[in-house]
Amino acid sequence: MPPPSHVLIVGGGLCGPALAIALSRHRIRSTILELRPQAGNNGGAIMLAPNALRVLDKVIGVDEEIKGEGFGLDKIDFFWEDGLRVGGITMEDGGYGALRIQRTKLHRTLLDLCERDDRVEIKYGSKFVRIVEDEEGVTAYIEGGEAIRGDILIGADGIHSKVRAHVLGDRAPVPTYSGMVGIGGTLPRSSIILPEGMTYPSFIYTPRGMIMVMPTDPEGQAIGWAASLADPHERSRKGWLEYQNSGQAARDIKESYAGIRHEPIRSIMDNMVEEEQARVWAPYEIPDLSTWHTKRVCLIGDAAHAIPPSGGQGAGQAFEDAGFMARLLSAAPPSSSSPPASSTTTLPEQATATTEPKSYDELFAHFEKVRKARFEHVRELTKVSGNSRHGSPTWTGTMVRKYGMWAYFHLVKGGYYTDHALMGYDVMDESVEY
Ligand SMILES: Cc1cc2nc3c(=O)[nH]c(=O)nc-3n(C[C@H](O)[C@H](O)[C@H](O)COP(=O)(O)OP(=O)(O)OC[C@H]3O[C@@H](n4cnc5c(N)ncnc54)[C@H](O)[C@@H]3O)c2cc1C
Repeated sequence: MPPPSHVLIVGGGLCGPALAIALSRHRIRSTILELRPQAGNNGGAIMLAPNALRVLDKVIGVDEEIKGEGFGLDKIDFFWEDGLRVGGITMEDGGYGALRIQRTKLHRTLLDLCERDDRVEIKYGSKFVRIVEDEEGVTAYIEGGEAIRGDILIGADGIHSKVRAHVLGDRAPVPTYSGMVGIGGTLPRSSIILPEGMTYPSFIYTPRGMIMVMPTDPEGQAIGWAASLADPHERSRKGWLEYQNSGQAARDIKESYAGIRHEPIRSIMDNMVEEEQARVWAPYEIPDLSTWHTKRVCLIGDAAHAIPPSGGQGAGQAFEDAGFMARLLSAAPPSSSSPPASSTTTLPEQATATTEPKSYDELFAHFEKVRKARFEHVRELTKVSGNSRHGSPTWTGTMVRKYGMWAYFHLVKGGYYTDHALMGYDVMDESVEY
């Protein structure tokens, strides 16, 4: 089986374009079907951990393009609300640090690279509705009736994936609301009072829960903050937007933190302009899927697995998926039907398999095996960080957490926790033989 000459990718979010760029570097052509009429992956800033930057650099090749667009960091300090530094985490591993970047900038960079690349076509306003697989390839149908032919189809269409319904049929799960709503925004550094001894970027723990405070621009002048609130009431997409735009979400978070008199939380809450500066996101979850693939279709990114935003690893896992999928698909010698190189990108080292892959089915099975194992590991590693975000209802619980954290980080971990298993992962170490 030679590499595919034309890959259909459903979803022009974060991992679809990343896969297209990586495939093009191996002279594989792709078409991205994106339902939005134009680029629009908003939603504030995200953190790219060292493992995400490593795959973006080594396989996808966009590290340099995004470095200057966000705030680079090598550690996050954990403070108690009164200023006690209870611990911290190292955000550097093997020469890669972390980057806090506006999602729109990251997305724009990926799309710019795709739009400049002759081997990548993005079809905006194209809602994938169904797919037919046959012995020779796949036909994807777009709402309105247009049909597009490719060798294989990769479903990178996010947590509410339509491709997942094709792969799993009746067994496809409906995403469920997690019950915790995320609320956050950005404020100018000058409007926040940061007491002496406290630093950015940091996680600030309070009896009400944890607030993340991190610069999001290269100069560190725009400070992003984010908190979670328990909210059992699931709303429709429109309902969540109304909750945000009416200022109710801002009022709720202000009320929740009203009892906290310490800075910088006080000035963040006081300076928030309700309707403009508190964005809302409602995390959804899917259970583990029995399979990620059929003979010619495979899911990647949030379509295959979703992790709560508290882990700061969803995009990282999506990029690792894209990088590994590109390595597998390019592992055989390039097909003679591949179009000639015409983009300005240079080819990274070609992956080579010693055994010829037999079918896409087997290739996807290997992908799923490797990536499921990694994802399950990451999910376990990030659970602790998610649980630590919630407040404690009792004074005793609060004190146990405060001094328990201090003791763990200072006496056991020497001040900072280093998570090599999570952040040192390199998709280049995974075998492309199966
Ligand atoms: C608030 C929040 C904060 C986060 N913070 C972080 C963080 O700090 N670090 C981190 O690593 N991750 C973070 N994540 C997770 C990260 O955003 C996701 O894991 C990542 O976006 C997944 O990328 P994806 O390409 O799989 O899906 P998406 O980015 O959701 O892209 C899916 C795309 O598919 C398109 N699509 C859907 N259906 C169709 C269809 N039928 N036809 C055509 N196109 C379709 C959508 O329009 C969309 O563009 C966060 C998530 C949230 C919600």
